[in-house]
Amino acid sequence: MRNIPRRRRHECRRGTPRACATKTVMMCLLCFPLFAAEPDWPGVEKHALELLQKYVRIASVNPPANTVEAAALIKGELEAAGFTPKLYSSGPDGQTNLIVRLPGRDRSKKPLLLLNHFDVVPVDAKAWGMDPFAAIIKDGQIWGRGALDMKGLAVEQMTALIELKRAGIVPPRDIVMLSTCDEESNGKLGIQWMVNNHFDELDPAYVLDEGGAGSRELFTPGKLVFGIAVGQKQSLWLRLSAKGTAGHGSQPIADNANTILMDAIRKAMNAPPATKPVPVVEEMKRAVGGTFANNKFINATLDNTMSLTTLQSGVGSPAKVNVIPSTAEATIDCRLLPGVNADEFQSDIKARINDPRVTVERLSEPVDAGVSSAGTPLFAAMRTALLKEHPTAVVMPMLVPYGTDEVRLRIRGIPSYGFMPMVLDTATIATMHSDQERIPVVEFLRGIRIYFDVLRSDY
Ligand SMILES: [Zn+2]
Repeated sequence: MRNIPRRRRHECRRGTPRACATKTVMMCLLCFPLFAAEPDWPGVEKHALELLQKYVRIASVNPPANTVEAAALIKGELEAAGFTPKLYSSGPDGQTNLIVRLPGRDRSKKPLLLLNHFDVVPVDAKAWGMDPFAAIIKDGQIWGRGALDMKGLAVEQMTALIELKRAGIVPPRDIVMLSTCDEESNGKLGIQWMVNNHFDELDPAYVLDEGGAGSRELFTPGKLVFGIAVGQKQSLWLRLSAKGTAGHGSQPIADNANTILMDAIRKAMNAPPATKPVPVVEEMKRAVGGTFANNKFINATLDNTMSLTTLQSGVGSPAKVNVIPSTAEATIDCRLLPGVNADEFQSDIKARINDPRVTVERLSEPVDAGVSSAGTPLFAAMRTALLKEHPTAVVMPMLVPYGTDEVRLRIRGIPSYGFMPMVLDTATIATMHSDQERIPVVEFLRGIRIYFDVLRSDY
C-alpha cells in the first residue's frame, strides 16, 4: 500500500483506466478495494500457448462437426476460472455449442458477444509434411489445422475474458462468449441453431468474431494496416447442368454435353466488373493511401467474383474415354459485394449463357446483411487498443471476401466486427483452409493483450 505512487493510474471497478484524482495514498483508500491487479502476463501467456496446443490436437473436423471433446476442454478452462459455462447439443453426432457469461456493470444493457467456432475444415494430410494435429512449435509459429481459423483467436478471446474476471475488472456490460460447432458448414447446427433456439441468452448489442487482420503487405505494400471487418460478401453457389446427346467418341457431334458446358461456363464467368461503388471499399482505399496491393484476397474484396469449383462428367467409373456423355455438370462459387442483388446476378448469368440445353440451379441462400457502422464506441475501443500496441498503424473498417457466423447477427442489425488483432503476412493468411496452417506465437500472445484492452474499455 505504501508503495503506491501518488496519482498513479489504476483500474477501478468501473472498468476504465483513469488517473486517480486523490492526492495522497490515504485518501485513495476509498478506491483501494476496487483496485484491479494486472494479469501475470508471463504466466498467462505460457498457459495460453499450452492451451492452444491442446485445442489444436483435438481434431474437431467438420464434417461431422463432433465438438464434444473441444467443448469439454474449453468448458474445463472456464470452470477452473470460476465461470459457469453451458453446453448445448444441437445434433445427433456430437455437435455441441457453448455459452458463458461474465456479468457487467449495467445488467440492463445488452451484452457484447465474443463469437468463435470449435470446428475446423478437413486436411489433405499428405500435403502437410507434418502431423496437422500435432500443434508443434517451430520457427516461432504453432503449426496445425485450426491454429489460425480459429482456435488461436478463440483462445485469445477466452483468455482475455478469464483475465478480466481474475483481475476483478467489471466490464461496462455483460460479455457473453459463444463457441459454435459448425461454422465451416454454414452454421446450421451452430450459430443458426443457437439464434433460433437460444437467442434470449445471446441478444447482443455487439459481436466480435473472426475476420479482418493486420498486415504489412496484404492491404498495401510496406504499411502496417489493420482491417476490422464490418461486412462480408454474399455466397451464391450455382450448379450448371448441360444436356446433349450420348455417342461414340470416334464420331464427334455438335451437341456434346461437355462442349455445351464449357461454352456455358466461359459465358457465365465473363461477368462485367461491378459498377456501383461500395462505400466501405472506398474507405479502405483512402485508408491505404490510394493503392491496394495486388493479391487474391484484395482482388476478391474489390469486386463480385466467380470460382469454378467442380466439374463432373463422363460415363462409367473410371469414366470411359471413348464415350460421349449426355450430361455434364459444373459448380460455380459466386461471391457478391454487399448491395448486389443475387437474383439479378443469377439471371444475368442465365442471359449470358442463353442456351436452353443448360440449366442454372441455386445451391445456397445468399445473405446480404449490409455493413456495420464503424462509428460505435466498440470500434473506437478496438482502434485505441491496436494503436497502443502499434502506434504507427492504420486502422480501417474492411470487407472480407468470405462468410462467417457473424452474418447471422449482422442481418438482425447488430453491429458485428471481425477482429483479429494480429500482424500476419500474406503467406500465413493464405494457410487458412490450406496446408501448413500456422499462427505466429508472438502475434498470438500480443492478441490476448489487445483483446484484454478492448474488453476493459467503455463500449
Ligand atoms: Zn473460421
